[in-house]
Amino acid sequence: MAERPYIVGNWKMNGTRAMLSEARAIDRAAQRYMKVEVAVAPPYTLIHAVHKEAEQIGVGAQDCHPGEEGAHTGDINASMIADAGAKFVILGHSERRQDHGETDELINAKIESALDAGLRVILCCGETLETRDAGEAEAFVLAQLKAALPAFQDPAERLTIAYEPIWAIGTGRTATPDDIAAMHGAIRGLLDETYGAEASAQVRILYGGSVKPDNAREILATPEVGGALVGGASLSAENFLGIVVGASETEEV
Ligand code: PEP
Repeated sequence: MAERPYIVGNWKMNGTRAMLSEARAIDRAAQRYMKVEVAVAPPYTLIHAVHKEAEQIGVGAQDCHPGEEGAHTGDINASMIADAGAKFVILGHSERRQDHGETDELINAKIESALDAGLRVILCCGETLETRDAGEAEAFVLAQLKAALPAFQDPAERLTIAYEPIWAIGTGRTATPDDIAAMHGAIRGLLDETYGAEASAQVRILYGGSVKPDNAREILATPEVGGALVGGASLSAENFLGIVVGASETEEV
């Protein structure tokens, strides 16, 4: 990996205040691995509490509404999560796309609002198994990104892409290093084309999908993999830190 690897835990709809001890353990241990940038995205209800615990790790949200404050019962916008202590937001996760019918256009609006609120953004993309089997994975992922990418150059350092093949999320299956390298290379090509090589080089491309301590080193050593977005394994400090340690020891092959 060229730059500091970025390891981000997505807690999804998990966690009550009982999880704060895991957040504290992750944070204190992360201070020993300064070569790795570590962050967690707890549910909204814990953002402020995890932010108060965190001395080292970044804290973010898993979604935000794209609008201004107002009459949107149950929604939370980008300024509100920033006010709670979030420094980044994960947008376009496949579970949001599937469970809430989120379109690329909506995700693009969310990205623009998050950047306006001063947040960093992790934009997720990824194909289903049917799309991969049909040989259309790359075209599908690039089309998702083209429709959702923000029209900017300056805040490139505030954008991260996460490639997460849907069939690898929470299933224990991971893409092969060759498949990951091919997809990340194609994404890099699109970023170069969209923003120019200099701005593109600031955008890390994470891999996500059943990353665990025992496969992290191989995945993180794959060309163009700038880190990992981790679901299930981020719920235990021990497992998550195993991935952080793997990242601290990995050199690109
Ligand atoms: C995710 O949903 O972002 C994810 C990568 O989940 P898991 O690590 O559990 O596959």
